[in-house]
Amino acid sequence: MKYSHEVIVVGASLAGASLAAVLGQRGYRVALIDKAHFPRPKPCGEGLSHIGLSLLKEFGIYDRLATLPQRPYLGFALWGKGRARPTVIDVLETIGVGIQRRLLDNAILQAALQHPSVEYFPGLELRSAALVVEPEGVKIAKLQVSAPLMVLADGVHSALAPKLGFVHRSSSPRRYGMRLVWQGTSDPLERRVSVFVFDEYEVYCTPVGAGALSVAIVGGKSVMREMAHKPGQLELQELLKRRIGFSGDLAERPLGIGPLGAVSTQAWRGPVLLAGDSLESIDPLGGMGMSHAFACAKAGGCALRHMLEGGLPRAAAMAEYTHERERAMRPLRGFTRIVAKTFRHILHRPIFDVMSKVPIMATVERALDPRAPGMPTAAVRSVLELTGAW
Ligand SMILES: Cc1cc2nc3c(=O)[nH]c(=O)nc-3n(C[C@H](O)[C@H](O)[C@H](O)COP(=O)(O)OP(=O)(O)OC[C@H]3O[C@@H](n4cnc5c(N)ncnc54)[C@H](O)[C@@H]3O)c2cc1C
Repeated sequence: MKYSHEVIVVGASLAGASLAAVLGQRGYRVALIDKAHFPRPKPCGEGLSHIGLSLLKEFGIYDRLATLPQRPYLGFALWGKGRARPTVIDVLETIGVGIQRRLLDNAILQAALQHPSVEYFPGLELRSAALVVEPEGVKIAKLQVSAPLMVLADGVHSALAPKLGFVHRSSSPRRYGMRLVWQGTSDPLERRVSVFVFDEYEVYCTPVGAGALSVAIVGGKSVMREMAHKPGQLELQELLKRRIGFSGDLAERPLGIGPLGAVSTQAWRGPVLLAGDSLESIDPLGGMGMSHAFACAKAGGCALRHMLEGGLPRAAAMAEYTHERERAMRPLRGFTRIVAKTFRHILHRPIFDVMSKVPIMATVERALDPRAPGMPTAAVRSVLELTGAW
């Protein structure tokens, strides 16, 4: 069979565009499709971790962010219920950045499109009826596009994945997300992501630019309904003023999404590979979803290269992708689950106080290495086992 492209990528957001950029760098012919026109807003807490930043450096994309408005953050300031002061956890070895997804996603897409071998189809919602999926490849007749592989990077609500036989498990109870952007007259002074923890939901506040604060709310459906309307928003405004001294007005229409937290039982089937949220949407609690999208691009880029250049059989290349993605994902998942468990634990205050003294991410990474001896590795390993991240 003769193909027009080497890879079709559906979804030109973080997972899809960064993978297209990685493949485009090596001259692979990529058809990149997205139903949206970029730049476009995206519901997200907009905190990009040091792990995501270092992957963008590795891809050679990081420099493109230099001119974009952004704010560095050192860690998290966690406000437990009824606490007058937050627990500060500088969990990260180096800083992350708060950056608007509208700008970030577009910068990464432009990095992909600078490569002449990447062909872009914007504003096109791909439906399963338009696809012919055969064991040896995929065809989209109306675009005259065909390839031996297709990557679905179409987000947490992938409509295509279930149609192509993928099965998703969802976490319970179901959580939803909403993002609001507030514009103040002065810069938010906070150099941390402020997280307010309530019984049924959390509020994440990330400074993202001159006077701009991105506020993400994650919780049940009822809090989403409240925050979509004026009284809920006024309450939130009051909280921001009282706790972090931020005053400002809502600058954009609230954006909602959900349910979150779906995981596919398979990373690939035949010629179709899942990447980013369509494969596993990690709870926003840890702020690691974007880093996971880039980790998929790295693992996917390597595996596809070994297949296309090195002659590795497709099944072996897909197994390599699954393994490498899982390896990168475990510390992100482990960190998120430890934080989630702690939030919900009755002793969360003293536990967070202890956690604030430990470099958490490095400790989780060490604990995941079976050869690493000693405390606190053994204790963290037990927690990882309990949370199912081990
Ligand atoms: C409330 C909330 C807060 C969050 N906060 C953070 C945070 O602070 N830090 C962090 O790292 N992560 C955070 N995340 C997670 C992060 O937003 C996601 O993990 C990330 O966006 C996943 O990227 P992706 O490329 O896999 O998917 P997406 O960004 O969802 O992109 C999917 C793309 O596919 C396109 N598409 C979908 N269907 C089709 C189709 N049929 N045809 C063509 N195109 C299609 C869409 O237009 C979209 O551009 C948060 C998520 C939520 C919901």
